[in-house]
Amino acid sequence: KSQVPDLPAKEISPSYDWFQTESLVTIVIYTKQKDMDSESVIVDYQDGCFRAEIVIKDYSYLLHTELSHEIQEDITGLYYRKCQLISKVDVTHDTKLYCLMLPPGTHLQVPIGHHVYLKQTVTGTEIVKPYTPVLETLHSNLKESLHPNNKYIYIMIKIYHTGLFTPYFNCLQIGDCVSLSNPEGTFKKSQLQELEELFLVAAGTGFTPMIKILNYALTNITNLRKVKLMFFNKTEGDILWRNQLEQLADKERRFEVEFVLSEPTCEWTGKQGRISLPLLSEFVKRSLEDSRVLICICGPALFTEQGIRLLKDLNFSQEEVHGFTA
Ligand code: FAD
Ligand code: NAD
Repeated sequence: KSQVPDLPAKEISPSYDWFQTESLVTIVIYTKQKDMDSESVIVDYQDGCFRAEIVIKDYSYLLHTELSHEIQEDITGLYYRKCQLISKVDVTHDTKLYCLMLPPGTHLQVPIGHHVYLKQTVTGTEIVKPYTPVLETLHSNLKESLHPNNKYIYIMIKIYHTGLFTPYFNCLQIGDCVSLSNPEGTFKKSQLQELEELFLVAAGTGFTPMIKILNYALTNITNLRKVKLMFFNKTEGDILWRNQLEQLADKERRFEVEFVLSEPTCEWTGKQGRISLPLLSEFVKRSLEDSRVLICICGPALFTEQGIRLLKDLNFSQEEVHGFTA
């Protein structure tokens, strides 16, 4: 904090401003004089006090500022607020849907395709991991939610027993708090405008960004003829929101879903394997030669990288492919 010095009441009185980064406080003094030279300014910084004497014509002006304290937090970094855990609901054997409530003074709406960071202290160390907020459900009236969406944030998280963050997150009790950051991300809603065909290629929890995209596209993009989701998982039991996806496909003629398993049982009659050129070339086909298409891809880093490479080989342009990466 700075103290405004007593300046003589003359029209040539200088003014000043300050700004700071992580390591530096910069004080700018505006004298409105063209002929200022280094002899006209004397600056001292001693015992936490900054003192600048500026000589303009026959007057001397004094700026005396006290730095109130050391910079304590990274003010250029992400801002966190504490959110309360309201509910947790099983999605599969290892994945849950968590509802977090924003504090009363916060308004925050996470843009489509963006993620937030959750932060918690685990045995004395701060751990931060990114998560992509989802909707409460894919059901029926997609625009309406049981809760107004500016107070609650839904996050679908897979728990890894040997993981650094998720086992501790899963131990939170209803009513406990977790720190949640401002959103980040490169996806732009405008990428969906004027779209005719949307292809979503997801693996495991890489499904999370697809949820809001799917909902937004079906509800808001008038020219949209088709939305297809190709969803890669290890086993049937790993498929997130399978029932909801199948119900949506039944009721919404523009939407199709295809499940691909890498570790199926012998009863599985659907598609098998990992991401490959034959699977993608069959799935991602323009229905018209000049259709406006977007392909969104998200999953383990190697899955996403491989997918982007294969789509390039299939002659889709950079603008037509959005990969969700860290
Ligand atoms: P980690 O400690 O990271 O470990 C994960 C697994 O990998 C464990 O099984 C662990 O044993 C194994 N492992 C760790 N290190 C190694 C190693 N060196 N070699 C071999 N195996 C290893 N996840 C979600 O569930 N939902 C989301 O919505 C979501 N959104 C994301 C958004 C973005 C932008 C990104 C980048 C990731 C997202 N993730 C999401 C993943 C999430 O951020 C975490 O990576 C995940 O929750 C695992 O965290 P963890 O600390 O519990 O596990
Ligand atoms: P998983 O281990 O259950 O695998 C799901 C499927 O992904 C597999 O069946 C397989 O088809 C495919 N796959 C896995 N490893 C592969 C590889 N090396 N090469 C090609 N295909 C592979 O997946 P999970 O445990 O749910 O992990 C999901 C991943 O998605 C995590 O790594 C997470 O960080 C990432 N993710 C990223 C974002 C983002 O926005 N960047 C968002 C959510 C999740």
